[in-house]
Amino acid sequence: MSPRRVLVRGGWIVSMDAAVGDLPQGDLLIEGECIAAVAPRIDADDAEVVDARDMIVLPGFVDTHRHTWQTCVRHRYADIEPQIYFAEMLGRKGAAYRPEDVYIGTLLGAVSALDGGITTMLDWSHVQNSPEHTEAAIQALRDAGLRGVFAHGWPLVEGASWMFDSTRGHPQDIRRLRREHFASDDQLLTLAMAARGPEMAQREVWMSDLQLARELGIRSTIHMGAYARNAPVRGIAQMQAAGMLGEDLTFVHCCHSGCDEIAMMADAGVSASLGVHCEMNAQGIGDIPFDRMLAVGIRPSLSGDTETKCAGDMFTQMRHAFSYYRSWMGGEHSTVKNAPASITLREVLEFATVAGAQATGLAHRTGSLTPGKQADLMLVRTTDLNLTPVSDAVGAVVLAAHPGNVDTVFVAGNAVKRQGRMTGIDLESLRERAFASQRYVLGLP
Ligand SMILES: [Zn+2]
Repeated sequence: MSPRRVLVRGGWIVSMDAAVGDLPQGDLLIEGECIAAVAPRIDADDAEVVDARDMIVLPGFVDTHRHTWQTCVRHRYADIEPQIYFAEMLGRKGAAYRPEDVYIGTLLGAVSALDGGITTMLDWSHVQNSPEHTEAAIQALRDAGLRGVFAHGWPLVEGASWMFDSTRGHPQDIRRLRREHFASDDQLLTLAMAARGPEMAQREVWMSDLQLARELGIRSTIHMGAYARNAPVRGIAQMQAAGMLGEDLTFVHCCHSGCDEIAMMADAGVSASLGVHCEMNAQGIGDIPFDRMLAVGIRPSLSGDTETKCAGDMFTQMRHAFSYYRSWMGGEHSTVKNAPASITLREVLEFATVAGAQATGLAHRTGSLTPGKQADLMLVRTTDLNLTPVSDAVGAVVLAAHPGNVDTVFVAGNAVKRQGRMTGIDLESLRERAFASQRYVLGLP
């Protein structure tokens, strides 16, 4: 049987692939899971047609760092002392999470990400309180139907003994996951390690954790340089001295990491994830190191981090990234040589797509509308009042679009959103379960 063919017809295609370019009016053919062709005109009589007139056709976004399990308590921790978030979410409340709370939080977060055009998300899951919690998170990502990287973390215990100078090695259950769930790297869901690194674990521990990830052949993602208290640890420099930096690593935040450390990242091919909206809201986390990264050639990816402190959608991250950089450089705050004086809207879109695919090790599969890659894409309506009339597709998407403008989303050729509505998910039941979980987690009636 030949694969199902879908012809996305007559859209304004922004491919984010230099060889394909932009097509103000173009067709995109999906065959099975993959993009078969992108051209001004494609004839495919047997294909199901998706009318993309008055739509911008874009690659799906890639979010490289999201604590998705926290979604049911979203928006509660932005205007309070940041340490309260750590004490509550990563202490008391996180330790009390049941597997069903992990499931519903992760499902709600993943479904909302898809609704806003995020087709790939790295679930930074540091709530591995038991193997049942782990199974719940993986099942939720599977049920949501997005391309996911499940980044397996550690258990939350009140007192946070896993997070301060820890002597405990990464949970060995990750070996079982590799065997039972993630034996292939060609699946929709793949595995990574959410590792603690030098800021949370003792030297022998973080070194053996990374050796374990490398033994399993998976990537690792680590928080670095968030808040001034972590600056003296010089985690990146420690890893460099130990010969542990590599292309299989992504560092998150890096706000207080030294310029020399950011240069070490660039030299070793370490990628970066900036949770822009969250970083701007988490007062005291430090200045976002955009200029310092761009100066040494790092193209950062973007992320929603924790929805307890910010909006998780990628439009918000892009809009803030652009404004932050313009404001930072315009205010002459940068002291870095060689930092670009400004960035373009298209570069910001690159951070949200291509750079994210690179930072998750999936650049060969997603991140651009390239024939042969997986069909992960979205259609954004240009006729909506906040966008019309569109004269610059990239400008419209980066400056002003929001999840409500996303008409259609495909993941691996499968339509998970059509005509503005999520398909194949009972949203009423999702809302009810999310509400019940929130009440439990917050201890409310
Ligand atoms: Zn984080």
